[in-house]
Amino acid sequence: MAVFGLHKPNNADGRFVYLSSHKTYSSEDYAKQNYKLYLTDELDKDEHGRIFTYYRLHAMDAHSPEQAMRYSICCPKCGAVLRQIGRSLNYHDLGLYECPECSAEKEGRN
Ligand SMILES: [Zn+2]
Repeated sequence: MAVFGLHKPNNADGRFVYLSSHKTYSSEDYAKQNYKLYLTDELDKDEHGRIFTYYRLHAMDAHSPEQAMRYSICCPKCGAVLRQIGRSLNYHDLGLYECPECSAEKEGRN
């Protein structure tokens, strides 16, 4: 599992907090202590053996479901904006995301 620390760029427009992935860590504990928000990846294999990558957003501060919705997060691999595909699990483990670009490539749509 990889852990990606997230940071807020300077040009955040106020409507969305726009985050891009910063650095990869192998330990979730480090990211937990140093980032208000971070992503972990979750790998899933389909029946054809293709591996899909999903990202779970985690927060240091408690987030309501509405607060958890306001982020736009860039893909750690290609920089495209991730699409939210799953809801928050609790106040700290937030939505599940996938990258439309990376998954399109996997499915042969590109
Ligand atoms: Zn991507």
